[in-house]
Amino acid sequence: MQEEIKIMNVRFNNVSMDETVDFVLKNNLQGYICTPNPEMLLECEKNPEFLNVLNNSQLNIADGIGILWAATQIARKSSKLKALTELPFIALAPKRFKNVLKQRVTGTDLVQEICKKAAQTHLKIFFLGAAPGIAENAAEKLEHKYPGLNICGTYAGSPAQKDFETIKELIDKQQPDILFVAYGAPKQEIWIQQNLHKFPSIKKAIGIGGAFDFIAGKRKRAPKFMQKLGLEWLFRLAQEPSRIKRIFDATIKFPFKLIKTLK
Ligand code: UDP
Repeated sequence: MQEEIKIMNVRFNNVSMDETVDFVLKNNLQGYICTPNPEMLLECEKNPEFLNVLNNSQLNIADGIGILWAATQIARKSSKLKALTELPFIALAPKRFKNVLKQRVTGTDLVQEICKKAAQTHLKIFFLGAAPGIAENAAEKLEHKYPGLNICGTYAGSPAQKDFETIKELIDKQQPDILFVAYGAPKQEIWIQQNLHKFPSIKKAIGIGGAFDFIAGKRKRAPKFMQKLGLEWLFRLAQEPSRIKRIFDATIKFPFKLIKTLK
């Protein structure tokens, strides 16, 4: 099995959820992990700084079945027609796309799994970002669910320079080992790349998008069967119609751009 694969110039690592969590908890080299999704790959096409940030991460894990479909087409050197005819299988037989990149790992699931396993260690986690009160609420829920979990601080703030001093003071005081950042892509990944070296206690930082909103219950996650069918986007569209452009980009624009790159 391939260890990594490039999709639209972004490197993806073939790691499972368990391998990722193990790496986060046990590897002591400072660095960050990204969970690129189709919209992020489209953003990279017009934002070289973001592309560079993603390719300098320690791990990039696929967030979305669309990424798994793309990896399969690239690895098998599929023709344009073959890739196109395989698109419906994203919903009909998603398992068929798990042979090149083994698993889809979303930010929300990753936060939950890291917290679950970190509860059995002495590691400290700091939650940065989301609307005021949301990260705090998510932290309370997770500490209740996973006794022993040490979320040493939360702060909404923003990626703007004006907020940096406050963030620095809070993090320096708490000395976390792991940092989750919820400022949305690409801001969260760029913020991490620019600032992580200023926080020596932090071994791993991860941009986690809307994860705190889901955990706090501010937004609802799609039912499991829809997630499995790769239809989480449909649920999100019904919940937040304003996301229509983002959903169009992920479900239509991304596959067609990728197909164009095939022979
Ligand atoms: N966010 C923030 N500050 C900002 C921009 C975004 O705290 O300047 C938060 C927002 O409240 C949300 C998260 O960033 O909790 C990311 O939201 P998005 O819907 O973009 O996430 P995704 O689609 O990646 O789940």
